Amino acid sequence: MKNEMTLAFDSRSENEGFARVAVAAFVTQLNPTLEEVADIRTAVSEAVTNAIIHGYPDGIHTVVVRALLSEDTIEVWVTDEGVGMEDIKQAMEPLYTSRPELERSGMGFMFMEAFMDQVEVQSAPGVGTTVYMKKTIRQGEAGQEG
Ligand code: ATP
Ligand code: MG
Repeated sequence: MKNEMTLAFDSRSENEGFARVAVAAFVTQLNPTLEEVADIRTAVSEAVTNAIIHGYPDGIHTVVVRALLSEDTIEVWVTDEGVGMEDIKQAMEPLYTSRPELERSGMGFMFMEAFMDQVEVQSAPGVGTTVYMKKTIRQGEAGQEG
């Protein structure tokens, strides 16, 4: 069975927690472990924070989070139609940040890649960014870890 949801919300930092909790609640249908839920929450949090802070540095615009459950897998897309990236490879390098003055540490993509099985970034300057993430859930082991 496939099950899909889409959230569209203002790029306000207050909404980062909402998006993270919504995706975590949605994935509980796959019977994930607490650790898997925490991993997904963290990865979504990093991608949404990036859309809010980097994608839309000026003003409030829309961030879209789409999640698709199928069998034992969750796929998540986090999309902004913001400034986009010139160099995706550089942006994804560990500890690279374009905003050191905001006390960013350049760890966001590191966390996404550590906690998800797959992370792909599509981005173009002036067009925006979509971060795609995928994780397979070890079903039936719920409550074993945390
Ligand atoms: P941290 O996540 O540790 O607070 P960071 O956000 O700078 O710091 P990453 O999340 O790894 O680090 O992102 C690296 C860089 O990629 C950012 O500094 C930014 O230049 C670019 N970037 C990431 N997401 C986006 C986005 N949605 N739109 C435009 N640029 C982005
Ligand atoms: Mg970040």
